[in-house]
Amino acid sequence: MPRPRAWPGPRGSPVTDAAALRDDVARAARHLAAAGLFIGTAGNLSARDGDRVAVTATGVRLADCRPGQVTVVTLDGELVAGDLVPTSEVDLHLGVYADTGAAAVVHTHAPYSTAVACVLDELPVIHYQQLLLGGTVRVAPYATFGTPELAAAVHDALAGRQAALMASHGSVAVGSSLAQAVENALLLEWLAQLHHRASALGAPRVLTDEQQAAAVEQAVRRSYGTLQENPA
Ligand SMILES: [Zn+2]
Repeated sequence: MPRPRAWPGPRGSPVTDAAALRDDVARAARHLAAAGLFIGTAGNLSARDGDRVAVTATGVRLADCRPGQVTVVTLDGELVAGDLVPTSEVDLHLGVYADTGAAAVVHTHAPYSTAVACVLDELPVIHYQQLLLGGTVRVAPYATFGTPELAAAVHDALAGRQAALMASHGSVAVGSSLAQAVENALLLEWLAQLHHRASALGAPRVLTDEQQAAAVEQAVRRSYGTLQENPA
């Protein structure tokens, strides 16, 4: 599976109006469905603006998600706007917003990420791009979907990371913007697929702490991943 095209990101920033936030969440949901990370009604996504959180409703076919299928709640989960009940994982989203600076949360049942989450206890760093997610991706212990226990386990697995896996369930990615959370979810799926393919050839080499530190240093020095103009 090639890396899907980058999602262009929310129009305008920061988003100040709940209608625009709902529209951005709906567009991101359709993008992740088109990229193969959201399948049918499986998965959910939210974005925060101040004390408002726009979150996909439960039962929505995410490939066709419309702003009217995105519900707005407070950080405590009280309904602000929308006709539909939020995703059953809304506590997982609100738990992330409660004590991190995340602006968006994406939860998927993406094929490769979920496969890793069904077998491994962590996704080791076999490629330096994983350092964008903070290093080794932890797999949160299994708990029933939609429970506070699962929300707490995912919260812990995300400490110091931009992504986590959920045992026998799926993936979670966060970001400092909606576009970044989407990118992180796509990156995690790419890394999970890379691990799968590499493992078919033999035991993948895991980058040492020194190799990881040098890669981070180089990324900072070269402003890795950003557009840079040639000197005039
Ligand atoms: Zn799920």
